[in-house]
Amino acid sequence: MLDAYIQAQDAPGLLDGCLRKACSYHASDIHIEPLVEGWQVRLRVDGLLHPLTRLPSALGLAMVVRIKLLGQMDIGETRLPQDGRMQITIAQQQLHIRCSSLPGHLGEKLVLRIQNRSRQVLTLADLGLHQEQLAMLKHHLAMPQGLIMITGPTGAGKTISLYAALHYLLEPERNIMTLEDPVEVVIDGVHQVAPKAGIGVGFNTLLRALLRQDPDVIMLGELRDHESAETAIRAAQTGHLIITSMHTNTALEAVQRCFGLGIDLAGLSYSLQLVINQRLLRRLCGNCARPMAPGWQRQMQSQAWQLARQALHDQGRVEQPRQATGCGLCQGGYHGRFGVFELWQVAAEQRHSIAKGQAPRVEDLASLQQQAMMAVLAGDTSVAEMARVLV
Ligand SMILES: [Zn+2]
Repeated sequence: MLDAYIQAQDAPGLLDGCLRKACSYHASDIHIEPLVEGWQVRLRVDGLLHPLTRLPSALGLAMVVRIKLLGQMDIGETRLPQDGRMQITIAQQQLHIRCSSLPGHLGEKLVLRIQNRSRQVLTLADLGLHQEQLAMLKHHLAMPQGLIMITGPTGAGKTISLYAALHYLLEPERNIMTLEDPVEVVIDGVHQVAPKAGIGVGFNTLLRALLRQDPDVIMLGELRDHESAETAIRAAQTGHLIITSMHTNTALEAVQRCFGLGIDLAGLSYSLQLVINQRLLRRLCGNCARPMAPGWQRQMQSQAWQLARQALHDQGRVEQPRQATGCGLCQGGYHGRFGVFELWQVAAEQRHSIAKGQAPRVEDLASLQQQAMMAVLAGDTSVAEMARVLV
């Protein structure tokens, strides 16, 4: 399909074709970048980039101009980074796209972030939490005040979990507000606010204003500095449920990061209720995944694997480890993603440690590892994917 547009040097048709491909693969971003010779187009699918096509130089440049025009960017300006946005209907689906340009040595690179606002918000039950974890999370979301943090590296699905939690809390008797940069998914019934650096309306100014709006639940995209963390913790002690995320590898690191922000530790120890650490694993394609070779299976005999095997059997699930192949219906043998989680409920003795600025004793990553192993044994994902995500 794309080849015909490339042959015809048809930039509008090619952009349309690339967006269609991006939609059919559920890609989150399209990268268009100059090479020494020509251009390349790549799609980010389930967190990883995949090459889509190569373009001759003139067509690549025409694509860039076309996108900058639609994105209401200055097509005459090629030396400064620019941001734009556009709305396009592809396959009866309205796409909201954020574009950014960054001039480099070989020319401008464009990245198109597809923000599909009609995207359905996942429910808590869809996230992949097992039953006990789901019950524990619901218990803490029902609390009238406190702090719930979601941790993980980039691409761990923290935002999806934050939105699912808000969706669960959506009741007429609650005033739910968010402060996020930017608003990624619109939830009807939630007042969502984003900082506007261009007119000097920053995160902390908005957070103070938001607290004067009689909120019950506040979702903060991220705790970033001393001021926002201090305000959030004060709010979490005065009748507000605060849900936020932090970019750390473990639950314990999130607490240590809070120590580093120089906030009131007694307040933190009192308000912190639950820390969720999570990762997203790519799901093996149902069409092409094939059973793992026996040689590989024999390597899955360590004590950790045996414990995961036992846990899988206890849940009455069948062991059928598989590996990725790749077919026309998937990207490299995978299609979609699912989450693995560990939940840390802060216990009384751990509160004492936090109040003193000492790292509490927390079992870290062990249960994430075990859940990933169970998913491998069940054939939901592969050993290679587990190794990629849980390093
Ligand atoms: Zn496949």
